[in-house]
Parts: sequence; structure tokens; C-alpha cells
Amino acid sequence: MELQCFQCKHKLPIQALAYTCPKCGSLLEVEFSDKELKRNLKCYPLSGPLRVWRYRALLPVLDFSKVVSLDEGGTPLIRCDRLARYLGIEELFIKFEGANPTGSFKDRGMTLGVTKALEFGAKIVACASTGNTSASLAAYAARANLKCYVFLPKGKVALGKLTQTLIFGAQVFAIKGNFDRALELVREVCEKNPRIYLLNSINPFRPQGQKTIGYEIVEQLNGSPDRVFVPMGNCANIWAIYKGFTEFHRIGKIKKIPSMIGIQAKGAMPIVRAFKRGWDYFEPVENPETIATAIRIGNPVNGIKALHAIRRSKGMAEAVSDKEIVRAQKLIAQLEGIGVEPASAASVAGLIKLLRSGEVSKDEKVVCVATGHTLKDPEEAISISEPPKVISGDVRELKGLVR
Ligand SMILES: *Cc1c(COP(=O)(O)O)cnc(C)c1O
Ligand SMILES: [Zn+2]
Repeated sequence: MELQCFQCKHKLPIQALAYTCPKCGSLLEVEFSDKELKRNLKCYPLSGPLRVWRYRALLPVLDFSKVVSLDEGGTPLIRCDRLARYLGIEELFIKFEGANPTGSFKDRGMTLGVTKALEFGAKIVACASTGNTSASLAAYAARANLKCYVFLPKGKVALGKLTQTLIFGAQVFAIKGNFDRALELVREVCEKNPRIYLLNSINPFRPQGQKTIGYEIVEQLNGSPDRVFVPMGNCANIWAIYKGFTEFHRIGKIKKIPSMIGIQAKGAMPIVRAFKRGWDYFEPVENPETIATAIRIGNPVNGIKALHAIRRSKGMAEAVSDKEIVRAQKLIAQLEGIGVEPASAASVAGLIKLLRSGEVSKDEKVVCVATGHTLKDPEEAISISEPPKVISGDVRELKGLVR
């Protein structure tokens, strides 16, 4: 295995402490050869319960004694028959990433990322975040006894995520600017202080943990679905899941790579716009705005990779309004009992839209990735719900209310 530039294909040894290509500045990818994938699987055959480290054969770790884990992954793939019937589709599954230790898929990337931080001998880790990345990094850093710096857009982080980041003991800097600015800042800080290991979306190892979502979906369905819907913010996850599918394809575990459908919020849709216009680049969105704070990102670091994943898998990109997101969030909760945060509901909102336009047909097997738990953003969940009825406690007051 080695690090390879996504654009110019320049190669670096896997031991190199680098985030971007020294030749062209693009992002680096971890690549295994077919031979390595097959040989590693012989040494460490897939065994044990479903979770990230079940796939150790396919993860770029050099020293397994350094693994930092909270037993992440192995999230349920929930068959949603009531929601499917309501939407008029035959087979619908929700991959519930809210079941991870800190309540989002970010844990899959962080178990690997923080393990690599220890391999590199780092004592400090850092990230910018819309909330879930920092909640996850703070937890794994605490477990690994690493100091953790977090840069958040002030006033724009959902309560649950902020709560987690603080209780896990991270040093939090709230910056007066949006996420994109916070990311620029932390990149600058880490460039000036190479002792600080950067665990943002530009980190080449995090997607390697996240690709296990793709592996798990295949194992849980005993094959490929037709389509996988993924909400897109910084766009690392859709790429990572696609990568998981392509690797399973290369080792002969699946015959077909599912088509990847990337969903963005209308107020932050640079990739959807680029996809629809047939561009192989994208124009950042200046002031991204959406109720789904986890995808409130105007200049996605992995945007080009998302375009590749979507096009190479014959997929699609679509944007949904906040209203559509909220409606989908309620449907998932009230028809299936699955609580997700708004960004996660974007995937189902996208499915609703594409079913209606006829792009997706009702006989397809669909997986929607629900990226984070509803308790991440309790204020939003309360604000879209019917408030409690206040009563003084006399049973007669319930007359007409409780039948
Ligand atoms: C991070 C996150 C996303 C966006 O994932 P990207 O890899 O940045 O595209 C979506 N939903 C939730 C809940 C997240 O935490
Ligand atoms: Zn390069």
C-alpha cells in the first residue's frame, strides 16, 4: 500500500507524514494493489462481528498494537417497510450510522485516523468541524491520551455535538466565520506546527475507515443494492463508501458497484450544480445556509472525488430544500422509529424527490445512509415537533385528549 495523489498520481510511501501532494497540492489517497488486497485477506480473513476492525486486512495500519477503538461500525441496516410502502418503493434500507459510539459515521474515520496519529508519534490532534468531526475526534483523542484542538464556527454547531466535544475535554476555539474559514485556519495552524496531526477531511486515512460502510452494506445485504443515497458536505463519505464498493468489486465479492447518489441542501449545493452542468470542477458557494448544519459547507474539500464517485458509478446528484429535509426527518422518525439529524434526512429527502421525478424506479433496492443521530441536534428536533401539552395534573383535563 502507498499514498497516491488523486490528480497527478505521484506516489509517496505509506509512512510519509503528508496531507497533500508535494508536486501538485491535490489530496492524497491510500491505494492497495489487487495483490495486496488478496494477500492481506489471506493473512487476516474477515471474521468476528461486523465492525470497522473486522476489516483490518483492508485497512492501512502498520502497527496493530496502536489501534484506538470504541468498537465503532457494525451499525444496523434497517429494513424500512412502512417508509417504503409510504414512498411507493419495494425495498428500502436505512444504514443507521447514528448507532456509532459518538452518534455519527465520523467514528469510523477517527478510529483509523487517531490510530495513525499514534503511529506517527503525534501528541496533539486538531480539526475544524461543523460538530460531528470534533465530537468524534475529541472522544478518540481522550481515549488515546492525546491533546485535542477543535475549531468551530461560532454559534453554528448543534447542541449535542458541542456538548460531546466539551465533555471529552477538547480545547475548543469558536471562530467568527463559517466552517470553510475554520478549515483554512486549522490547516494553517498545522502547517506551522508539524507536531499537530491534522484530522480533517483532507486526512488520507479517515476515508479508509469510512469505506467500511460500503463493505458492511454488501455483507448485510449479501450483495450490492442498486442505489446508495449519501448526504454530501465535505464529500469524503460518498467517496469513501464508493471506494469500499470498488475494493469489494476488485476482490470479487460483488459483481456490480451500486450507483452513488449524492444529496446536498439547496443552500449549499456546489457539487449538485457542477454535476448537473457536466463540469469536472465546481464553483464554491459563498455563504452556505441550511438547517442541516453537518452539510452546511460551501467549498467541499473532496468535491472532485465526489464527482468521480457519482459519475463512475453512473449515479446522480440532487439538491433538496430545508422543508424537504424536515419532512423526511419526520417520516423516518414517525414511520420507522429511527431518529436522525437533518443532514442524514437529506438522503431520504433526495430519494423522495428522485422517485417523484421518475429517476429512481420503485423496483430498485435502495440504501439511504443516515449519517448521524437525532440527539445531535435536539433544538432542531424540538422546533419541528408538536410542543408538549401543559396540564396541571388533574385527570379531568385529559377528557377529550386521551381516548
Ligand atoms: C460529516 C457529516 C456529513 C457529511 O459528510 P461528508 O463526508 O463531509 O460529505 C453528513 N451528515 C452527518 C451527520 C455528518 O456528520
Ligand atoms: Zn499530485
